[in-house]
Amino acid sequence: MTGIDSLRNILELERRKGYSDKAVFGGLDKYLHKQAEQIRQSLVQSLNETKRKKLVPQFLTSFDEFNLTNSDYASYDVDERKKWLENIFRFLKQVEKAEEKNELRTRTPGKSNAATTELRQQGQNEGLNLPITVIKGIAPKIASKFAKLNINTVHDLLYFFPRRYVDYSQRKAISELIVGQEQTITGTIWQANITTLGNRKGTEAIIADETGTIRAVWFNQPFLARNFRTNARIAISGTVSEFNRKMGFQSPEWELLENKELLHTGRLVPIYPLTQGLYPKQVRKYTKEAIAGYIRQVSDFLPEEVKTRCQLLDLSTAISQMHYPADQTMAESASKRLAFDELLLLQLGVLAKKRDWQESQPGNAFRVDQEVLDKFLHYLPFSLTQAQKRVLEETLADLKQPKAMSRLLQGDVGSGKTVIATLALLISAANGYQGAFMAPTEILAEQHFASICDYLSKVGTPGCHCEEQSDKAISSERNTLACYSGFLPRPLTIALLVGSLSNNEKANLHDKIKRAEVDIVIGTHALIQKEVEFNKLGLAIIDEQHRFGVLQRSALRQKGFNPHVLVMTATPIPRTMALTLYGDLDLSIIDELPPGRQIVKTKRLEAQYREKAYNFLRREIKNNRQAFIICPLVEESESLEAKAAITEYEYLSREVFPDLKLGLLHGQMHGSEKDAIMRLFRDGEIDILIATSVVEVGIDVPKASVIVVEGAERFGLSQLHQFRGRVGRDKEQGYCILISEKAPHELNERLQLMEKIHDGFVLAEEDLKLRGPGEFFGTHQSGMPDLKVAKLSDLRSLELARQEAITIFQNDPLLRKAKHRLLGQQLRQVWSNNAEWS
Ligand code: ADP
Ligand code: MG
Repeated sequence: MTGIDSLRNILELERRKGYSDKAVFGGLDKYLHKQAEQIRQSLVQSLNETKRKKLVPQFLTSFDEFNLTNSDYASYDVDERKKWLENIFRFLKQVEKAEEKNELRTRTPGKSNAATTELRQQGQNEGLNLPITVIKGIAPKIASKFAKLNINTVHDLLYFFPRRYVDYSQRKAISELIVGQEQTITGTIWQANITTLGNRKGTEAIIADETGTIRAVWFNQPFLARNFRTNARIAISGTVSEFNRKMGFQSPEWELLENKELLHTGRLVPIYPLTQGLYPKQVRKYTKEAIAGYIRQVSDFLPEEVKTRCQLLDLSTAISQMHYPADQTMAESASKRLAFDELLLLQLGVLAKKRDWQESQPGNAFRVDQEVLDKFLHYLPFSLTQAQKRVLEETLADLKQPKAMSRLLQGDVGSGKTVIATLALLISAANGYQGAFMAPTEILAEQHFASICDYLSKVGTPGCHCEEQSDKAISSERNTLACYSGFLPRPLTIALLVGSLSNNEKANLHDKIKRAEVDIVIGTHALIQKEVEFNKLGLAIIDEQHRFGVLQRSALRQKGFNPHVLVMTATPIPRTMALTLYGDLDLSIIDELPPGRQIVKTKRLEAQYREKAYNFLRREIKNNRQAFIICPLVEESESLEAKAAITEYEYLSREVFPDLKLGLLHGQMHGSEKDAIMRLFRDGEIDILIATSVVEVGIDVPKASVIVVEGAERFGLSQLHQFRGRVGRDKEQGYCILISEKAPHELNERLQLMEKIHDGFVLAEEDLKLRGPGEFFGTHQSGMPDLKVAKLSDLRSLELARQEAITIFQNDPLLRKAKHRLLGQQLRQVWSNNAEWS
């Protein structure tokens, strides 16, 4: 909220409180003295935004006359206070008018502004938008700590939920603890010190109660040791694990029990995510105050019928129970309601986006020429699988529509997505439109270019009548243009556009694309550079979706007049989740591999037997095969990961395989370096490629037969599955060796699944169950509202929210009905920061 808005809110509150100087804790003067400068700045800013800049000096003069920095409100009697405030209100009215004259204000991005305006018009709920300093005990200094957590208003604080609860009434004696269960103990700190865990510093403490002692460790938090004074009382809560045959806690929740009162409340105590300088005790006090003072002002935006149908608590109950649940069941109901809200708003948002996008402008309806299809399929060296046929039908049906296709094509590694893409591109070309095919790396783009040319050379005659073309093809190092005649009624031209082309080559291609002399362009990010202008882009295909962000997807889409869009991915995710995350896309799945495809034989190996793996590699390489060795994942640091890979490469080159040709590939290398190495490997110039996880994406190296994954326990199952998809691309048997340190039990279980399961979808679901969606997707699901309570792995809730969203829109597409008014407001509010989406 801007300074000027909070001023307005606080003064209004003060007026309602009868000029008693109770609107802000500590008194109005204190607030004004502190905030005057900020308010002044926000005044300048909001007037500038309205393009009424020339008014700024005039307004500032009036503002300065109030002399807020030296206000003396407290010393006035009620009448004087009233008068003084009325003057300010008049001033604020004028500001508001100036802002309203230009409607820009309501459209300025940023939640708080829009929200405040809306709520003010509504004439209720003002309290929720007050700065948290209105809450007893929250001084500006504390408010600034909250600001770091993005908590600025009372509303924000009400929605600052505990991560979990500690049930102090149910605590255990140390001697009663059971491995594998989540439990709480209280005891005395015997000793605590900084120690080395793995290769990083952490804290170790020994806690004792009347029945025994237990060790607790915290990774990466050496600073805790200082907090843990000997003999201090502490509560520890977490899952008890076993190492070296001894029970212990690993990075448990903890709380120093200075405050005895908490202990004896005999209830579920909320544990909030904390920041430096905000302590649990404090935060609890504030949330309690916020609930007591403001929960009645929360209005429920969910229609009654939805709440009844889905058996949901009303909003204010849910919020208070989320902080201070009566019992475990209430905590669950509260979280169910709040999670539902998030998922419903997410669903409504994506569905609305999809509708807007498809209905706002017409798409290009293609004619599907059966003859073209048949001819191509006839010359294809294989026939399509049933799944490919079905997906092709779904795609063609979309292309025929006068609204733009937006389809997500999921298919396991090797399931044959490229043929489908090729067919769609041909149909587009046959309709006189250009098609673009974007891949995440140069070498993949080259691969697609080569295989599409290969397919086409069987159907049409290579070469063109335009002589200029063949000259170019010969003179350039790589073929970047190919032309086939005899297939379509006119010659069909395909181009490869990648970053490493010379400027001349690029300019030449840009020119041809602009003049519609190219029908199909295959490329990398180079395709979405601003120099690339299509003459008539009708279809955009994006391969390996997870490597491209939402924004890149939309950049490509904007290169044409509402082109059809097909997104392809080999990282399958469960249907319901796909519908949520890519709710603006329809879903097609190739759930069948071409016949005769061999599974990649997969085996776990303990690190101490690594020698066996090396011997196996040698044998394969003697038989004219190639191998990958994948280095362990180093979380959060690509540069450490690269360093580790370099060390591994040097070690293997010197000590293990001095007689073989080794190559190195890691994320810190330039795109062109990476491509160069991959080319050498593909062309057989390298026997063993040592790589970090960058190698994951769909590269085809026919002779590679073995992949060894070091530190396998650190990777997700889906990622391991992608890795092993790199080998056995040819007819020969492929092998995958997963090397792990002696891992804890559950990690081993995970790796065992890799030996048994070869279906990427099943593995993805297992992955999700085991690790949760956060890790599954990495960090870059940008462009969507945050999920604080909801879990994407909760497929049932996802499904429920989606159904409700569909029902609501069917019944009231624009949310105009009275019962949906608040919901509509809420929807605009949570999506207002995400204008870039789609
Ligand atoms: P992905 O879905 O991983 O991108 P590709 O499209 O690269 O898979 O196909 C993998 C390999 O399978 C290619 O060599 C392709 O020619 C081949 N292929 C695709 N469809 C079939 C099919 N129906 N029958 C036999 N081989 C196929
Ligand atoms: Mg592929």
